[in-house]
Amino acid sequence: MNKDESIDLEEIIKISKEITDDGAVCNRCLGRQFVNLWGNIGNEERGRRIKEILLDYYKRESSLKNGHRSASIRDPLEGDHVCWICGGLLDDLDKWVRRCVNISEDYGYDTFLVGTHISGLLHETEEYLWEKTGARHTESIKAEINREVGKRVGEITGKDVDFVKPDLLFLLDIPSDCVTINVKPIYIYGRYKKYVRNIPQTRWPCRACGGIGCPVCNYTGKKYQESVEELIGKHALKSFLGESTKFHGAGREDIDVRMLGNGRPFVLEIVNPKKRLSDLAEIEQDINKYERDKIEVSDIRFADKEEIYYLKSLKVDKIYKCDVSFDRIVNKEDIIKVITSMSGITLRQRTPTRVLHRRKDLIRERRVDRIELTDYSGDSVTLEISCAGGTYVKELITGDSGRTVPNLSDLLGVTATVRSLDVISFNH
Ligand SMILES: [Zn+2]
Ligand SMILES: [Zn+2]
Repeated sequence: MNKDESIDLEEIIKISKEITDDGAVCNRCLGRQFVNLWGNIGNEERGRRIKEILLDYYKRESSLKNGHRSASIRDPLEGDHVCWICGGLLDDLDKWVRRCVNISEDYGYDTFLVGTHISGLLHETEEYLWEKTGARHTESIKAEINREVGKRVGEITGKDVDFVKPDLLFLLDIPSDCVTINVKPIYIYGRYKKYVRNIPQTRWPCRACGGIGCPVCNYTGKKYQESVEELIGKHALKSFLGESTKFHGAGREDIDVRMLGNGRPFVLEIVNPKKRLSDLAEIEQDINKYERDKIEVSDIRFADKEEIYYLKSLKVDKIYKCDVSFDRIVNKEDIIKVITSMSGITLRQRTPTRVLHRRKDLIRERRVDRIELTDYSGDSVTLEISCAGGTYVKELITGDSGRTVPNLSDLLGVTATVRSLDVISFNH
């Protein structure tokens, strides 16, 4: 026997006797209680050697006392004895390996990981065992199943185990007797421009039916038939054979606001992709070819999940182009005076009435860097407004019944209305 610092022969015999006294035990379950023993030989071989030691011990004992004792440590495969710890589970791991291989057949992937869910009873059995043996040298049955199944799946598929970010995660659900698969989403970064109004950024479910489909939405389940998410997503889904998408924009513009200039960054998440590799340049080309009347994308590349948090945390300065009309003719000099006085100020904006149903009612301070007059025709103007991210630009013009202070309407003493609004620069 090789030397082992942590356990001696006497202790091995004492612990393995205690375990086998309760009934037949398979090699793996026995070997698993002594994982530090004999190096990297595997629990099955370890258990087999321990049974030999135990048999030798009983032989010696019986020759001394002329007694007889050995049935309880027989290998369960040799007779009707089923391991009282795992119930034969560990001798049937190939069944689980086959299930993993089968379920993954439709997926393109490079890496995987195996996880196991065991029954409460098996968990209790393990705890009982650990109490009995002291659990100083033991490994959990989950760890053993994960490792063994992982090893064999790797041998068959030629794929690698990845503990941190596997492409596929197999969950062996022992109580339900099935394997489920969890596929790492694909994340794609890009920037989008939106050339038309009345298209929301993300898929917008019908409020009347909650997305199931009803007469109100013409059984589409959607309030708006298209969204930036869907216009981009359908091409990515086709390419990666995904199930659905989630769209993560660096903020969002209102439905009636166009997104121009350099575009807005986003990460598109493709849920349950069957392919992991695809030509992103081709996807970009397809979107820009088939959706060019509505949107355009650029800078498409692979991303990871962390980038979503980064995009969500961005507070980005923007430049807007805003067409405004007044209820009467206003002097050009007065307009220039007022917008010059508004450049460089900090607005106090109470949550606009139009978004109160979904945002908390509070006052936000937002910086306006510069307002410029780019077009003038008496009762209407075009303004270019540079301001901090999160500024409610429409309310900066209208005042929203005094909820945004100061505002253009009050300073000019007119009723100003926003005719159209475009983001023309997203400074990131
Ligand atoms: Zn067992
Ligand atoms: Zn509906």
